[in-house]
Amino acid sequence: MLLRSAHIHISGIVQGVGFRPFVYALATRLGLHGWVRNTSAGVDIQVDGSLKQLEAFIATLRLEAPPLSHIDSQDVVFGPPGGFTAFEIVHSQAVEAAFIPISPDVCICADCLWELFDPADRRYRYPFINCTNCGPRFTIIQDIPYDRPNTTMSAFPLCAACAAEYQDPLDRRFHAQPVACPDCGPQIWLERGGSAEPLVRGEPSIRMARDWLMDGQVLAVKGLGGFHLACDATKPQAVERLRQRKLRVGKPFALMMPDLAAVEQHCLVSSEEAVLLTSHQRSVVILERQPGSPVAEACAPGQHTMGVMLPYTPLHYLLFANPDQTPAVYDLPPLVMTSGNLSEEPIATGNAEARQRLAKLADAFLMHDRDIHTRCDDSVVRSQPEGAHIYPLRRSRGYAPDPLRLPFEMPPLLATGAELKNTFCLTRERYAFLSHHIGDLENYETLQSFEDGIRHYERLFRIAPQRIAYDLHPDYLATRYALERACQDDLPAVGVQHQHAHIAAGMADNGLSGELPVIGVALDGTGYGADGAIWGGEFLVADYRGYQRVAHLAYVRLPGGDRAVHEPWRVALAWLKQAGIAWEDDLPPVRHARQAAGEGTNLLQVLEHQLISGLNAPYTSSMGRLFDAAAAIAGVRQVVSYEAQAAIELEALADRSETGYYPVTITDGLLDPTSLLNALVADLRGGITLPIIAARFHNGIAEAVGVMCRELRTQYDLDQVVLSGGVWQNMFLLSRAMARLQTDGFTVLFHQRVPTNDGGLALGQAVIAAAQDN
Ligand SMILES: [Zn+2]
Ligand SMILES: [Zn+2]
Repeated sequence: MLLRSAHIHISGIVQGVGFRPFVYALATRLGLHGWVRNTSAGVDIQVDGSLKQLEAFIATLRLEAPPLSHIDSQDVVFGPPGGFTAFEIVHSQAVEAAFIPISPDVCICADCLWELFDPADRRYRYPFINCTNCGPRFTIIQDIPYDRPNTTMSAFPLCAACAAEYQDPLDRRFHAQPVACPDCGPQIWLERGGSAEPLVRGEPSIRMARDWLMDGQVLAVKGLGGFHLACDATKPQAVERLRQRKLRVGKPFALMMPDLAAVEQHCLVSSEEAVLLTSHQRSVVILERQPGSPVAEACAPGQHTMGVMLPYTPLHYLLFANPDQTPAVYDLPPLVMTSGNLSEEPIATGNAEARQRLAKLADAFLMHDRDIHTRCDDSVVRSQPEGAHIYPLRRSRGYAPDPLRLPFEMPPLLATGAELKNTFCLTRERYAFLSHHIGDLENYETLQSFEDGIRHYERLFRIAPQRIAYDLHPDYLATRYALERACQDDLPAVGVQHQHAHIAAGMADNGLSGELPVIGVALDGTGYGADGAIWGGEFLVADYRGYQRVAHLAYVRLPGGDRAVHEPWRVALAWLKQAGIAWEDDLPPVRHARQAAGEGTNLLQVLEHQLISGLNAPYTSSMGRLFDAAAAIAGVRQVVSYEAQAAIELEALADRSETGYYPVTITDGLLDPTSLLNALVADLRGGITLPIIAARFHNGIAEAVGVMCRELRTQYDLDQVVLSGGVWQNMFLLSRAMARLQTDGFTVLFHQRVPTNDGGLALGQAVIAAAQDN
C-alpha cells in the first residue's frame, strides 16, 4: 500500500469548539497517524495514509465537524509520508498577521444540562457548568490567542479533576477554556440592594432568589453579557414597579420561559419559531401572544406580540427548577428578563458598577465572581414572513463576533454606524465583523463602550483600518469619532449617505456581488439626506459604488424637528395641512393640541407659524413619520415613549383580512399621500373601524411601493428589489409589499443576517467605502 501524507489547513470557526479532539478521535478511529494543532490562522493537520484513507478522512472532516464549528475553507496538499507512529495534538503555532474567528457565547448544551440535574455528577447544580460545546466565549475573552490565561477565567486555577478533563483529548472538556467545578470555579451569592455583603452564598441563594421572585420582588441577575432585571411576569404590580423604576414607559420587556412547552402556553409558536427559540443563540424571539395568557399586559403594552427567550445559562435553569425535585421540574412562572440598566444606558456588567447603577432598580442582586469582559445584550429576532430564515432585529449575544462572509475581498476598514442602535463594523479579507449591539450613543457610558469595543475588535482580529466610513449626519457621535480618528491616524474618511448604506447593507446581507445595480426601497425614520433634508422614504437605483435617488415620498415640514419624533401629533398636523385637510376638532391630533395647550399658548397657532416660516421645521421625506402621522390621525397615539411606538401600535391593530387600500398619487418619482390621507380621514368620519383603517393604510403604502417599483423597472430595466430600513420591521407592511412585488415578477431581497434597522447600517457603510476609488 503506497503511503503518502496530507497537509490540511482549515480556516473558520475551529477553535474553542472541540475541533482538535474531534480530529484526534477521527484519526484514531481510522487508524491514521500524524498530528493536529491550532494556529492563529485556524487548524493545521498532518496525516499519513493511503490515498483512499486520506480521502475518507478529509470527507469526514466536513461531514462530522462539531456542531459549533464552521469550516470556511479547507486546503489540502499531498506529499511524502511523515513516518508518524501515533496521532497527537501538538502545541499551537502563531502565524503573524493572521487571525482566527472567535466563537460567540453559546447556551448550555444538552449534555451539560443533563449533568446539571444529575445528583451523581460532580457538577450537580453547579451554576457554571460548561464544556467544549457550550458556555461563555466572546464575553470573557480579553486577548488572543483564546487560551484560559487570556480570559476572565484566569482567576480560577483548575483543580486536579478539572485539569485531568482539560488535558484529555477524548474528554468533552478537552481544552474547554471556561471549564470549572464547585471546587475550583466561580461561585454565586445573593445580596440585598444597598449592601455589598453577601446575605447567603451558593445553593441557598438560588432558593432565596426564587422565593423573592415569587414574592414579586425585582432581582438583578448577573448573566453572560451583563445583568438582567428579573421579576414575575404574571404579577402586574411587580412589572409595573420595574417599569417605573427603569423609567421605561411603554417599551416591551423581554420574557424568559423555562422551555418550549411553557412558551406555547403563552404564545403561538410556529415550527420555524420553535427552531429559533431553541437555537444555541437563544435570542429573544418575537411571538404572537396567546389570548388568555396570564402574562401581565404591562410587559408589552399595546402590542399583540411578546419577546420571549429560553434560559441559556445553567443559573437560569437553576432559577426555574424546583430545588427539591429530581428530575428537574420547572415551576417558576415566566420571568421578565430585561437588560439591567436605566432607560437608555448600557447594560451593567461589573459587580461594583451594578450595585451602584442598579441600586434604585433592584431589590436584591444574584451575583457571581466570573467577570464579564465584553458587554453583550440579548439578540432579538423574528421569523421571516416566508420560510425558516431569521429576520434579525438586534444582532448581538450568540451571533457577535461571528463575522459575516462576503462574496468579495475587503480592505481593512472601519465603519462607525449610526447614532441609535449603534453597531460598528471592521473588515478584512472576505469577512465583515459587525459588532454586538452597542446601543444609543447619546450617553457617556455607551460612547465609552463603543470606543473600547472598536479597539477590542481591532486587537482580537488584527485589523488596522486603512479607511474609515461614517454617516453624513454631522451631529452623530459615531461620525465625530470617525473624523477624529481619521485625522489622528491620517486615514481617508468616506461619508456615506444613510439610505444608501441601508440598501448596500441589504445587498451585502444577501451576498450580492454589486456588479448589477438594484432598486433599493429604503424606508425608515431618520437619515441625513444629501440635500440636508431628513430622508426616509427613498427609492434608489444603487450599487456599492453609488446611488441615484430616483423617487421619494413628498417632503413635509417636521415641526419641532426631533421633538416631532416623540410627539406624532405634530407631524400629523403638518401632513393634514399639506393634504389640504382643515384642522377640525373632531380629528384626534387637533383635539390633543388644544387640550395640551398651556396657559396663554395656542399650540395650533405656534405650529401653523412654524409650518409657514420653516423655523425649526426641517423638510422630511420620512416614511416612519408618515406612519406616525397616520397613527395619530386615526387616534391611536399622540405622544410616544420610544421611537415608532405609534406606528407599532397601528400595525398591531391592522385587520389581516382587509384587502382595501388608500391610494398614493405618483407623479415623476414623487409619492404624494394627499389622497391617502383624505381617504383615511373620510373613513374615520364615516365610522369605519380602526383595524380596517390601519389595514387600508398599510395596504396603500405596499401598493405604492409596488407601483413605483414597476415604473422603475420600465425605466431602468432592473428587476431585483432590496428592502431595507427600520420601517421594514413592520411585518404587516413587509408581507403585503413582498406579495405585491412577487406577483409582479420581482426578485425581492430583504435582511436575514443583519438588522434592517440602523443596527445593520455599518455593514452597508463598509462595503460602500470599500468600493470607492482612493
Ligand atoms: Zn456543554
Ligand atoms: Zn475543578
